[in-house]
Amino acid sequence: MIPQWVIEKKRDGGTLADGEIRAFINGFTGGSIPDYQMSALAMAVYFRGMTPEETAALTDAMMRSGDLVTFERWPRPTADKHSTGGIGDKLSLMIGPLAAAAGLAVPMISGRGLGITGGTLDKLESIPCYDTRLSIDAFKRVVAEVGCSIIGQTERLAPADKKLYALRDVTGTVPSIPLITASIMSKKLAEGAETLVFDVKCGRAAFMRTLDDARALAQSLSRVGRALNRRIGALITDMEQPLGRAAGNAVEVAEAIETLKGGGPADTRLLTLELTALMCHLAGVYADRDAARRELAARLDDGRALDVFRRMVTAQGGEARVLDDARRLPQPGATVDVPAPSRGTVAFVDAQLIGRVVLQLGGGRTATTDVIDPAAGVDRLVQAGERVEKGQPLMRLLAKDAARAAALAEAAAAAVRLTDEPVPERRLLLEEVGLALAALP
Ligand code: URA
Repeated sequence: MIPQWVIEKKRDGGTLADGEIRAFINGFTGGSIPDYQMSALAMAVYFRGMTPEETAALTDAMMRSGDLVTFERWPRPTADKHSTGGIGDKLSLMIGPLAAAAGLAVPMISGRGLGITGGTLDKLESIPCYDTRLSIDAFKRVVAEVGCSIIGQTERLAPADKKLYALRDVTGTVPSIPLITASIMSKKLAEGAETLVFDVKCGRAAFMRTLDDARALAQSLSRVGRALNRRIGALITDMEQPLGRAAGNAVEVAEAIETLKGGGPADTRLLTLELTALMCHLAGVYADRDAARRELAARLDDGRALDVFRRMVTAQGGEARVLDDARRLPQPGATVDVPAPSRGTVAFVDAQLIGRVVLQLGGGRTATTDVIDPAAGVDRLVQAGERVEKGQPLMRLLAKDAARAAALAEAAAAAVRLTDEPVPERRLLLEEVGLALAALP
């Protein structure tokens, strides 16, 4: 394989052969193909796209660039969910334990936040002593004993993606559906779950801003997953407004615990149930989705999902007493309430602006090397449709010191739009890939 011929073929709109793609990725991972040739190919793919077959070959090659976790002859079906990321998206913290409480084994390898979107790992690391760096053997042991384990990506899992993503980040080649598909899927497939459910976020605070783009990504993920023999489901969900009332790290863990206790905000509970029901149904635990929703709701309400979460936290060295007393989570140095400028009904909460506020409060990163403040974030956030009086808090800002929080109060207030008109109910579930919209609640 001559790298420049492969680049030229893609540049001119050709279809790459399976062997060409594999050889290119192997050469890049091993170091014989330099970054500049990989970047040129990524740019050619950005402009020319890839067929589903090419995307599947790229995904498979990237998945095989490192270790593969296997769950052969495992006593329970294995399943995982992946979100493309948003503001207040703490769903993995509930979905993993809830699916395990329903009989699935959930090996979940999660990422960190970058930019305004949060990451499950950062959230979990706000639990004192929780270890996200288990070896693969220890990870499998926790999955076997507890039913669910959530850890971070190891160096040896899909290393081609790690290397390629870093290049894409600085060469303007991130927003390409085949490259995003291969990036997400190579990691998820390497982790070994038989069933994968994707929560493709759509809206101003998501990677995919429009429904067309979200649909294209969801379809691409589904196609590649099926081509590589996995059971795949994908929901497209709203990310115009934040999910829940908390955005940050420790505060989202606290909200996740509330939801695992059968409470929590209605939107957070609804998406937890929908995504877990899809996972359980695809994996064969429940014959239909209605039964799945009912059974799963019972497992949130009677503490079985919470019990799995408790055992997972304990197995990974974490301070499980945070489940009984959220004050044991990292606490902010100062809090500042943001008052409503007038009375009215909340028409809209801008997730992108809230994400920026959380980042500036210290709860997010702009570079992978930044250190986050686990206690920083936003809590008690109002939601669309709620009435507020003038001066009533729209949200509480949590920061290291009052000056930092106070400096962001104006920006935070600008994220909430008030109206005197009736506010239509928010649609959280926008579409399911492969299912008519009418089938969604
Ligand atoms: N998340 C990933 O893991 N990879 C991408 O390319 C985009 C989002």
